[in-house]
Amino acid sequence: MAEHFQDSSVSAVAVRIDPEHPEGFLFDPHQPQLRVTDLGAVRGDGIFETMLVREGHVRKFDAHLARLQRSADITDIGIPPAESWRAAVRRGLDEFEARGGLPAEVTVRLSATRGVDGEPASDDPLFAGTYWALLTPVPEETIAKRFSPISVMLLDRGYDADLADRAPWLLLGAKTLSYAVNMAALRHAKANGHNDAIFVTPREQVLEGPVSSVLMLKKNPADPERPRLITPILEAGILPGTTQGAIFAAAKRQGWELGYGPLTPQDLYDADHVWLVGSVALAKPIELIEDQGGAQHRLSTDEHWTQKLNEFLDEDLPVQHPS
Ligand code: PLP
Repeated sequence: MAEHFQDSSVSAVAVRIDPEHPEGFLFDPHQPQLRVTDLGAVRGDGIFETMLVREGHVRKFDAHLARLQRSADITDIGIPPAESWRAAVRRGLDEFEARGGLPAEVTVRLSATRGVDGEPASDDPLFAGTYWALLTPVPEETIAKRFSPISVMLLDRGYDADLADRAPWLLLGAKTLSYAVNMAALRHAKANGHNDAIFVTPREQVLEGPVSSVLMLKKNPADPERPRLITPILEAGILPGTTQGAIFAAAKRQGWELGYGPLTPQDLYDADHVWLVGSVALAKPIELIEDQGGAQHRLSTDEHWTQKLNEFLDEDLPVQHPS
């Protein structure tokens, strides 16, 4: 049977980590790899991270590995140590070099599943599951459209902000493979003419995008070059975003004021600018928000501040979240 792949996936590089190869070995991502009994496939029981490599440098590598470990702890899935993941990614990047050169930007997705049901891959719990890194060139189109203003829709996530502590089995705040709901939210927003979505609680507290964090800017008339950046509080059961964390680290160094809301939709409408931020998308300015009643709220966008946030990301400072 003829196979059809997009250009970017044809040139994908994949590296698997197993007990015999803790530093990873290359495999062909276009050939079947997973057992049908792998719990990652049958139950979505696994975790992942998506990172950006620019000009050979993995951005926020430490923060992504720390969050992978955090997701592993929350889900109780054993994962190989950080050195294994680092070596696997290095191997993948070397393979691009060997094939004729690294693309300007590469998406790296680290995946770990609980493994094959009833058949751990190793007695060592750190290698009992299934682990791989997939490296794919970032499509030209993604790069070209990166900073175009977007329109988003508020969508009810159905959980209150205090549920994360009360219901740890919901795995809120872990980056699990069970992203079907997040993808459905994106499809719903697109079917309604928008580019993306922002989840809110039933009481209308702002949470995050399906694959991004929310960031808003309030101007500071007393010091126009040092505005205030605000993001929803992490305790609301959202993913601690590494992009938001890296932007905050750089902004703090420049003396900007930082804040963690509980934020309402009205706070977003009243902000000077709002973005959705993520590791590969970077900072996407929002020009319109449709609320749950169907009313449309226009926001102003400003290339200067969008560029500034992206310059902050270029600094690639260690990510810190308030503890
Ligand atoms: N929130 C969710 C639900 C996400 O899936 C993501 C990224 O995929 C983010 C936030 C942003 O995280 P990061 O900035 O680390 O890419």
